[in-house]
Amino acid sequence: QALLAALQPPPADPILALGGLFAADPRPGRIDLGIGIYKDEAGATPIMRSVKAAEHRLLDTRTTKRYVGARGDRQFAAAMIDLVFGTATDSGRVASLQAPGGTGALRVLAQFLAAVRPEATVWLPDPTWLNHEAIFAAVGLKTAYYPYYDRERSELRFDALCERLRSAAPGDIVLLHGCCHNPSGADLDEAQWRTLAGLLLERDLIPFVDIAYQGFGRGLDEDALGLRILAEQLPELLAASSCSKNFGLYSERVGCAMVLARNPREAEIATARMTVHARTLYSMPPDHGAAIVRTILEDDALLTDWHSELEAIREDMNGKRLHLAKAFRQASGTDEFGYLAHGFGMFSLLTLSPAQIEHARSAFGIYIVEDGRINVAGLPTSRIDDFAEAILAIRK
Ligand code: PLP
Repeated sequence: QALLAALQPPPADPILALGGLFAADPRPGRIDLGIGIYKDEAGATPIMRSVKAAEHRLLDTRTTKRYVGARGDRQFAAAMIDLVFGTATDSGRVASLQAPGGTGALRVLAQFLAAVRPEATVWLPDPTWLNHEAIFAAVGLKTAYYPYYDRERSELRFDALCERLRSAAPGDIVLLHGCCHNPSGADLDEAQWRTLAGLLLERDLIPFVDIAYQGFGRGLDEDALGLRILAEQLPELLAASSCSKNFGLYSERVGCAMVLARNPREAEIATARMTVHARTLYSMPPDHGAAIVRTILEDDALLTDWHSELEAIREDMNGKRLHLAKAFRQASGTDEFGYLAHGFGMFSLLTLSPAQIEHARSAFGIYIVEDGRINVAGLPTSRIDDFAEAILAIRK
C-alpha cells in the first residue's frame, strides 16, 4: 500500500503563507508586518556588531568541531542562567540544557513534562504564540486556555486570568510569556506578577516561563522581573529562553531550557533527564550560535557593546510605538490606539476583521497576520503616518 497515496498537505502556517504572498508582491511600497524579526529602518535585519566580533574571535581561536554533547556547553548554560535568573536564586538549583532555539528549549521541556507529569494540563494564555499548543500536543500533553487579553478593549484580563487559574488542578502547568507577550504586547506589571506568584503557590501550580524577547521590552533585567519574582517565591519553575531575537541569531538556533529545582541534587537529575530527551530529539545542539552568545556574555567589552546595540533596538521599537499611537490619535481624533504606546516588544494586535486585513493587503500592500497581529519593528518610521491613515480607511 502506497505510503503517501492518501496524504493531504498540512494546513498552511498563516505567518509563513503571508511571507510568501509578500515576496511575490511587486509593489515597491509594500510593508511586511508579519514574521517576528526585528528590522531596521531600511527593512534589513543586520548581524549585530558584537556578534560579528565574537564570530571573528571564534574563527581565529577554535581548533575543532568536535561534538558538544547532548547537554551542550555548560559555560553557555551558566551564562544564560545568570542572564535570565540574575540573583533571584542559587544557580546550583537550576537545571539547564543548551537547546536549538527557544522552540527547541520548549520542546525538550515539554517532553520532560510529559515524562514526569503526563496527567497535567498545560494552561496557555489566550491568545498566545501559535506554536505553543502544537508543541505540547506533540508530546501528548493536554492544553487549556486562560483569559489573557481582551481584543475588544485592547487590555489585559488580569482578574479573569486569576479566576480561571484558581480552577486549575493542583500540579498543573501554567505557561507565561516572560515579557513582550506574543501577539498582544501586553505584559503584567510588577504587582500583577506578585499576585500571580501568590496564586500559583497557593494553588500548587507550576509556572513555565517562555522568555523569547528578553531586552526587547523595558531592559534585560526589567524584562526578567516577572520570572525572577516567580523564582524567588516558588519552589519549582520551568523556563525556555531564546537568543534568536536579542542576539539577532535567528538562523543559528540558540536557546536554553532551564528548570528551577528545590535543591541542587534534584536540579542535577532534571538536567540528566533533559539530556536524555535531547538525545532522541536531535542528539546534540548546534554549537556556533551558543559559542557566540557565550563569548559575548563572558567578555566585558563585547557585553557592553551588545547592551548598547540592544538598547538601540529597544528604543527604536518603543519610539515607533509612541509615533504610531500619536499618528492614530491625529488621524482619528480619538485615543482608541493609545494602547500601542504602552505595549512592549515587537507585537501588538489591531482589531480588524479578516476582510479588513485582506483589504489592507490588496489596496495598500500592508501585510498583517490573520489575527490582527502587527510587527511594529517591520514598520518604517517614514511610513507610520500613511499606515495609520490606511488602517482607519479600511475600517470605514
Ligand atoms: N516563544 C515565543 C513566544 C516566540 O514568539 C518565539 C518565536 O517567535 C519563540 C518562542 C521561539 O523562538 P526561536 O525558536 O526562534 O528561538
